Amino acid sequence: MHLYSRQILLDGWDIDAQEKLKLANVLIVGCGGIGCTTAELLARAGVGKITLIDADTIEISNLQRQIAYTEQDVGFYKSEILTKRLQSINPFIQVESYTHKLDQSNAQDLISQQDLVLDGCDNFTTRYLVNQVCTSSQVPLISASAIGFQGQLFMVEGDSACYECIFPKEQQANESLRCADSGVLATTPNVMASLQAHHALLFLGLGATPLKQKLMLWDGLTMKQRILAFEKDRDCPNCQASHTANAQ
Ligand SMILES: [Zn+2]
Repeated sequence: MHLYSRQILLDGWDIDAQEKLKLANVLIVGCGGIGCTTAELLARAGVGKITLIDADTIEISNLQRQIAYTEQDVGFYKSEILTKRLQSINPFIQVESYTHKLDQSNAQDLISQQDLVLDGCDNFTTRYLVNQVCTSSQVPLISASAIGFQGQLFMVEGDSACYECIFPKEQQANESLRCADSGVLATTPNVMASLQAHHALLFLGLGATPLKQKLMLWDGLTMKQRILAFEKDRDCPNCQASHTANAQ
């Protein structure tokens, strides 16, 4: 109670909301610039179980923005170092980690146990897979990305439009746009991670879905934020597949 007292004091946030956080299972896909900050904020706020998945090890060029890691951590698995950090920040929560990639063989098992999935990975293949499994398993997804000076955030939940509705696969085929290979200012992923974690707390504690079927764009040069509503794409292969699966 003492640990979360400033949160419980908040108007519109009570012990009930705090209890909901404690009972929540959240999967964080990717422990890079977005994932490590999101994970830390959720651990501090009291999310009861956090699962981390990332196959990468820490490189010196990560330290410029991935605030959970230090020079001594170079060469170690991100998900393992981040797990230790979360446990030292908040020993009252459970943290589990995987040092392999999220792929077709494990995504279903891992995602179907969650109350919420937070995607902050660095490639389109994983993003489409996370979207596909979240949609078919009816697990809510909050997806954040940052590249250059730009950030994006949106939520997929229930019968809402999905990631593939907004970003059709054929338009994203160019994998050279991977965040892993592009420039990014230290602060941009951390801004987007903070917004993603904030949205996650609103959803888990209060059931709020302010960015459901809405795309938030954050421009790190002008500091302007825009929120665009988007529609479900009637031809989206992912929505059609999951609709058919759920109707059976
Ligand atoms: Zn769709």
